[in-house]
Amino acid sequence: MTTSYKLKILAGDGIGSEIVGEAHKVIDWINSATDLRIETSEGLLGGCSTDAHGVPLTDETLNDCNNSDAILMGAVGGPKWDGKVAYDVRPEAGLLKLRKSLDLYANLRPTKVIDALIDSSSLKPEIVKELDIMIVRELTGGLYFGTPRGIEDLKNGEQRGFNTCSYTTSEIERVARVAFELAGKRNGKVTSCDKANVLETSKLWRQVVIDLHEREYSDIELDHIYVDNCAMQLVRDPRQFDVIVTDNLFGDILSDESAMLTGSLGMLPSASMGNEGTPYLYEPIHGSAPDIAGKNIANPLATLLSLALCLRYSFNRNDLGQKLEDAISTVLDDGLRTSDIMGTAKNCKQVSTSEMGDAVIVKLGAM
Ligand code: NAD
Repeated sequence: MTTSYKLKILAGDGIGSEIVGEAHKVIDWINSATDLRIETSEGLLGGCSTDAHGVPLTDETLNDCNNSDAILMGAVGGPKWDGKVAYDVRPEAGLLKLRKSLDLYANLRPTKVIDALIDSSSLKPEIVKELDIMIVRELTGGLYFGTPRGIEDLKNGEQRGFNTCSYTTSEIERVARVAFELAGKRNGKVTSCDKANVLETSKLWRQVVIDLHEREYSDIELDHIYVDNCAMQLVRDPRQFDVIVTDNLFGDILSDESAMLTGSLGMLPSASMGNEGTPYLYEPIHGSAPDIAGKNIANPLATLLSLALCLRYSFNRNDLGQKLEDAISTVLDDGLRTSDIMGTAKNCKQVSTSEMGDAVIVKLGAM
């Protein structure tokens, strides 16, 4: 039986249209060769929308996103807008508005070391070989959104900057639930990362995670780690982890640290999830790479891997997500590399953005 889903595509700025162009090729292949139908429509997000409409995300595009089953984004931003336009019309403001409006509270960052690229990591191969961890970062609460916040003038001529970190039981519980559910489909282990020895928000975080675990997920292994130790363990022995769940600030830092365990920014996808029925957002973790935009040399694989996550989590097609990931691994095993992952690899061939996309399609067709 054919199933069909609506996918809103927001290419964004810089290399966005080039990398998303390769995702279109995969979608065309899926529509012609499988029983899944993906209906796509395009929209503007970021600087391109500010140029066209005066705002980085129009209500119309937001409405379209809301009426889709999922959203695939390229990247936003660039020097044209950096520091030159008011904060609320900066490209990043459009992305934050999109995440906040859809209440996408769980950001999933998988870190998987692909064997063919093991030498790209700055860690020894024996530390990262077959590494496969998932960081679940709370995305809509904590220090980045808490109030009061600001910079105030003090009487002695000094200034004081202040932010507020706060979490409610339900904000913690819903993101912890995502982590437990994921662990159930992976290796069955959740590590909850906090700073419960110092912070009240962390004390509550730990208690809520323990309570939820006892009530509903006692079949999953749960442990707790302080964030400073977690940062150290990620470079000492990252394979001890399966799913790490943590708050917005800690997750921001730890997910970038774990991303670099693979050594290749152009390879890492992400998914942002909310309540069931909400369209989820899929995007590569890298930015709009203005330095290489328009040259057909950007690595499209993080975007294709984001599409693979979309196939798994929004379109319920683990089989097709796996197939796409396998096709990408095979292309890399064959020695094809975009310039960012070329390194000092021997017997490898440097290819363009479009050649990399074409090679993935050939593999998909042959599988
Ligand atoms: P960046 O990730 O765009 O680029 C960092 C470096 O990595 C650059 O040398 C770039 O050429 C390279 N790179 C990134 N993606 C690549 C890819 N797919 N293939 C090959 N090389 C790649 O980070 P930046 O330079 O700090 O930021 C550029 C712009 O992107 C800024 O305006 C920033 O605000 C924005 N940004 C957007 C997002 C997003 O849309 N989610 C995330 C980060 C940065």
